[in-house]
Amino acid sequence: MTRRMTECPFCKRCDLVLDNHPQLVFEPGGDPCPHVAWVDGRYSQWERTPLGTDRVIGSTEFRYAPPAAGDDDRQQDLLSYLQELAQQGAAWPFAPPVPLAIQPLSAEEKTTDAKGRSHTVWDVDGVAIFAQDGTAFWSAVPECRQRQLASMEMGEG
Ligand SMILES: [Zn+2]
Repeated sequence: MTRRMTECPFCKRCDLVLDNHPQLVFEPGGDPCPHVAWVDGRYSQWERTPLGTDRVIGSTEFRYAPPAAGDDDRQQDLLSYLQELAQQGAAWPFAPPVPLAIQPLSAEEKTTDAKGRSHTVWDVDGVAIFAQDGTAFWSAVPECRQRQLASMEMGEG
């Protein structure tokens, strides 16, 4: 069940892969390329209920940030900003003004039951942010977040 979720759009030499555990790994070689700025995803396992509907029975989160992102506390502090950035996209006015690309993570496995209906066995939902210069990205984040917070206080966000 090793699945490629996305690749780095800058060098196209680094794949984000979900391994059997399931954990996020980088291929080839195990180390991410310097463009991987942030990864946040959730792996969910599904089952089919006796009524024939699908439901999530368990899920686990995975996350990656390079050393430039700082420690866990700092990342936690910036989490809502990063999630908003991931949702709004690179054209968001509060996005760091550096070349970046936001890619959805997607992978899934489906089965087909006796009646020919398709059911999800597991899937991945998440996002990866790539920056041409990961260090420049992370040094721009605090100021961009401040601008975003200030605009919300002014009622413009
Ligand atoms: Zn790369």
